[in-house]
Amino acid sequence: MAKPDPVVVVGAGPVGLCLALALAQQDVPVALIEAMSDGNFLDQVPRAGSNHPTTLEFFDRIGLYEKLEPRGIVAPKFHYWDRQNNALIAEFDHALLKDDTRFPFVLQCERIKIIEEALKMAKAHPLIEARMATEFNGFEQSADTVTAQVRNAAGESETIRGSYLVSAEGARSIARKNLNVEFEGFTYPERTINIEVAYDFRKHGYTERNYISDPVEYSNLFHWKGPPDRWRIHFPTNIDEDEDQLRQPNALQGRLKRFLGIDRDFEICGCNLYTVHQRVAQRFRSGRVVLAGDAAHVNSPIGGMGLNSGVHDAFNLADKLARILRGDADEAELDRYERQRRHVAVKHTQAQTIRNKRLLEERDPAVRQRNHDELRRQAEDPALARKFLLRTALFESLREAERIA
Ligand SMILES: Cc1cc2nc3c(=O)[nH]c(=O)nc-3n(C[C@H](O)[C@H](O)[C@H](O)COP(=O)(O)OP(=O)(O)OC[C@H]3O[C@@H](n4cnc5c(N)ncnc54)[C@H](O)[C@@H]3O)c2cc1C
Repeated sequence: MAKPDPVVVVGAGPVGLCLALALAQQDVPVALIEAMSDGNFLDQVPRAGSNHPTTLEFFDRIGLYEKLEPRGIVAPKFHYWDRQNNALIAEFDHALLKDDTRFPFVLQCERIKIIEEALKMAKAHPLIEARMATEFNGFEQSADTVTAQVRNAAGESETIRGSYLVSAEGARSIARKNLNVEFEGFTYPERTINIEVAYDFRKHGYTERNYISDPVEYSNLFHWKGPPDRWRIHFPTNIDEDEDQLRQPNALQGRLKRFLGIDRDFEICGCNLYTVHQRVAQRFRSGRVVLAGDAAHVNSPIGGMGLNSGVHDAFNLADKLARILRGDADEAELDRYERQRRHVAVKHTQAQTIRNKRLLEERDPAVRQRNHDELRRQAEDPALARKFLLRTALFESLREAERIA
C-alpha cells in the first residue's frame, strides 16, 4: 500500500511542534519544516513562558509536561500591584482551581525550553520527519493534495507533497500572505523593552508573576528558572526614544533603580525590544491550508495568552485533522476549527489582552481607583476569584469554543 502523504507543518515553534506531536501520536505522518538549523535553533530571543493550566493539560497529553516541569517554576499565585504607592492590589491563587484541573498553577517555562524539549521528542518520533534549515517559500494546492515549495538544507529548491499544510510559521506567515488573507487589527505605536536581571524581587514582596499598574510606566515582572535564576521585567518605551539609547547599560540600570526605588547596580543578563500587534487573520483556512498560532493571531503578551492560545489551536486542529484523515469526519471540521479558534482569538485573546494593557496604563485616577477596587473585590471572594481564574487560565475560552457547532 502507498505511504499516505504527511501533513506538512511549517514552523517548529511551540505551535508547530505540539501539532506535529499530537498528529503523530494519532498515527498521522508529519513533515515538519523549520527554517532555523540545529546550529542556531536555540539562539532565539526570550519570549513567552507563562504556561496556563489548560496548556499544561495539553502538554501532558503528548508527554511534554514531565520534561518541562523540572526546567520551570511552579507558580500558583499572581499579583496586581500599584506602582504609584508601591502597594499590592490583589493576589490570585490558582489553588482555587484544584477541582477544575490537575495543574492548579502556571508553569513559568520559557518558549526556548519548550521548543528544545519538544523538538527532541519530534526527532525521536518515527512518524515525524523534522526538516531543519529548510525554508518554506510557497505552496500550490488542488482538490486532494497540497505541495509545499521549500529551499532545503543543501540550498536546493524542493517540493514536499502533503495531505494538508498547516502554517505555524509565526506572525510573518508566508502562507497567510500567499492566500491574501487580511491580518486585521492594529499595532501599538510604542515598543516594549524586556530587561532580564539576576535579582530576587521576592525581597520586595513580589511573587513569581506580577502585573504592575502605573499611569507613567506600567510593567510586568516574571521569575524564570536559571541558571542564572532570572527575572524579566517589561516596560513600555516612548515612541521617539532611540533604540540604542534605550539599550545603554546606564539606561537599563536607571529604569531598574527607579522601579525599585533603590540605588544599587543590578546584574543584567539580557535585554530586547519588541513591537506589539493586536491582529487576527480574517480566515484560518483555505482549502487544504490552515493557519495556527501566531500565523493566525498575535496579541500583547500581557496575560501570557499568545503562546497558550496558539497551543490550544494546535490540539484542536490535530484532533480534527486526525479524524478527517482516518475517514471519521469530513473537511467541514476544518471550518469548525476556524469558527471555534477565531472566536477565541477575537472575543477572548484580543479582548482580554487589550483590556489588560488598558488596566495597567490607565491614567484617570478615579478609573484607576475603580479598577483596583474591582480587582480587590474579585480576589477577596473565592467564588469570584475562581471565576476570574477560569477566564485568565483560558478554561472559559476552551469551554465556549466547545459549544460552537
Ligand atoms: C519578543 C516577544 C515576546 C513575547 N512574549 C510573550 C509572552 O510573554 N507571553 C506570551 O504568551 N506570548 C509572548 N510572545 C508571543 C509568543 O512568543 C508567540 O505567541 C508564540 O511563540 C507563537 O508560537 P508559534 O509557534 O505560533 O510561532 P513562533 O514561536 O513564532 O514560531 C514560528 C516558527 O516558524 C519558523 N518559520 C518562520 N518562517 C518560516 C519559513 N518561511 N519556513 C520555515 N520555518 C519558518 C520560525 O523559525 C519559528 O521557529 C512574545 C513574542 C515576542 C516576539
